Amino acid sequence: MGGLDLWFREIHKDDIALGVRVKDVLWRGKSAFQTLDVIDTEMFGRVLLLDGLFMTTERDEFIYHEMIAHVPLSSHPEPRRVLVIGGGDGGTVREVLRHPTVERVDLVEIDRLVVDKSREFLPTIACGLDDPRVSIHYEDGIRWVRDRAGAYDAILVDSTDPVGPAVGLFAAEFYADCHRALRDGGVLSAQTESPFFDREEVASIYANLRQAFPAARPYTASVPTYPGGYWCFAWASKGPDPAPEQVRERYARLGGGLKYYNPEIHAAAFVLPNYFLDLLGAA
Ligand code: SAM
Repeated sequence: MGGLDLWFREIHKDDIALGVRVKDVLWRGKSAFQTLDVIDTEMFGRVLLLDGLFMTTERDEFIYHEMIAHVPLSSHPEPRRVLVIGGGDGGTVREVLRHPTVERVDLVEIDRLVVDKSREFLPTIACGLDDPRVSIHYEDGIRWVRDRAGAYDAILVDSTDPVGPAVGLFAAEFYADCHRALRDGGVLSAQTESPFFDREEVASIYANLRQAFPAARPYTASVPTYPGGYWCFAWASKGPDPAPEQVRERYARLGGGLKYYNPEIHAAAFVLPNYFLDLLGAA
């Protein structure tokens, strides 16, 4: 009898799907917050799914994690204390730890199951979670930032989509709390969905963000397993825009090994197509 022809299909907004051929289902379960599956696939290796959506894959995770971490951290002269909200798979933390100035990382992940299963099944992504500079807090990031004025040089919001417990991570109040939690010169990045498929969400996210950070703007990257393969991130800062020399100097201190981010990509990522500029103008 021929082998089973197994496929996983992520359906985005009921009307578009991305399918990948499945080799094996490694784990299935749920927490109080979401369902969690780990599948092994031909094209992307092991894949973490939350509520049936691609979160991260062994093969393309480097793109998202390098871009959410190195754009803000290379824009800050000397980031020492970093807050990562969400990010339970550990990929963002792994990239943050490449910066020699970083002394302490607080990871605030609401769902312990994500950390536990990422450690068990995705060791190349979760490897940084045991670094002595990292402390993990199984808390709500919305509450966490409320009473931490001036605590961080950088805040990276590596969240799920604006649904369920993550809705408040895209609200004007949360961004105002992040602004207060950042020291002078502090920087923020956040994953901010698809400029092509999530137009209404993106417009409201940037309208909210710009109440606290008027000069906030998006940068983009190609993430193959996210809807449409074109994704945006918010960049916001309490300080001046970084000089290109500073970005190059901080890149040189990372010691190589990056597979996506570099100073040229850093600059190019902020160049946006007209339809996206129009959307932001409306925001
Ligand atoms: N998109 C990322 C990537 O490409 O690697 C992965 C995102 S990470 C898995 C998203 C995390 O945000 C989830 O683990 C989820 O539990 C967490 N999360 C959602 N809402 C949260 C909240 N309010 N506070 C802290 N963590 C939250």
